[in-house]
Amino acid sequence: MLDCAIIGGGPAGLTAGLYTTRGGLKNVTLFEMGMPGGQITQSSEIENYPGFFEHHKTGMDFMDTWQEQCFHFGLKHEMKKVERVAKTGEHFTITLEGGENVEAKTAIVCTGSTPKRAGFKGEDEFFGRGVSTCATCDGFFYKDKPVAVLGGGDTALEEAHYLSNICSDVYVIHRRDTFRAAPSTVDRIKRKENIHLITDTVIEEVFGDAMGVSGVKLKNKAGKTEELNIPGLFVFVGHDVNNAVLKDEKGNFICGMNDWGQVIVDLSMRTSVPGLFAAGDMRIEAPKQVVVAAGDGATAALQVISYIQEQV
Ligand SMILES: Cc1cc2nc3c(=O)[nH]c(=O)nc-3n(C[C@H](O)[C@H](O)[C@H](O)COP(=O)(O)OP(=O)(O)OC[C@H]3O[C@@H](n4cnc5c(N)ncnc54)[C@H](O)[C@@H]3O)c2cc1C
Repeated sequence: MLDCAIIGGGPAGLTAGLYTTRGGLKNVTLFEMGMPGGQITQSSEIENYPGFFEHHKTGMDFMDTWQEQCFHFGLKHEMKKVERVAKTGEHFTITLEGGENVEAKTAIVCTGSTPKRAGFKGEDEFFGRGVSTCATCDGFFYKDKPVAVLGGGDTALEEAHYLSNICSDVYVIHRRDTFRAAPSTVDRIKRKENIHLITDTVIEEVFGDAMGVSGVKLKNKAGKTEELNIPGLFVFVGHDVNNAVLKDEKGNFICGMNDWGQVIVDLSMRTSVPGLFAAGDMRIEAPKQVVVAAGDGATAALQVISYIQEQV
């Protein structure tokens, strides 16, 4: 029986592994379906993790030492996809791809979330090279330059507002003429002089060269096309939360979730099920930053240690 099963090997899962093992738990396994590291390994540069300030280091370089550090303290790793986490009596059953079951006293689920793609031409090609899904992560790379934001919901408009404090101009492109965002957010956006709303318009293509993005091709409802020259495009069309492991055989979630499929946790990363914790981008109110995911992983791990001590 494992002391703790950690599902997902991004910053949250790896940090949970470091803190559980270094905190004295002997039998902890991290289940990660790919190479550990998580979504930050797709990033071409990271410069907002405190203590790590090396220009032009990729997310892959950044995560390199995390695994080494975690495994040094005894964390075990299985490169397997988890299908389901279930509570059976006092313990958890972790069902792996292929049907194998592993028993654990506690579980920390850190399977992250995936930003949705809008589907226009060039989006995948330029992802991480001018196309971004995170203003906090990448906005500063476009300081005093114009950028475009795609989307009409709260996230898109709030991120546009954030970018307007850094970038020279922010062009918000939205396919309808009204916004889904809260009216107060829309008003705030309209009051910013350097935010320009382009409505009833879609992005047909993002283009550029080996150096990255140089512009987008737009098409409005009337069929008129135009080009906008910008080096950065931020796409906010939603996130898919990777929460499938928390569904039972009937498709019902085993713990409390909000309407967007994010796991409801308290400040200790406890879910509604005793012994089950969630950390990182998949939890409610997640700022979707590496430093926060790592902090969540540490918090959950410390709670796991206390939980196990209380059981004996
Ligand atoms: C291109 C890009 C650039 C970014 N730039 C920055 C930045 O500059 N600064 C910053 O702070 N943040 C940045 N972020 C955000 C940051 O990467 C995330 O906030 C962070 O990685 C979240 O960590 P996590 O551990 O919660 O989840 P993730 O990193 O998403 O890790 C989840 C892991 O779980 C695994 N998994 C999922 N389902 C299963 C399953 N069923 N079984 C087993 N394993 C599973 C996945 O393979 C993945 O490795 C960026 C993100 C992207 C995509």
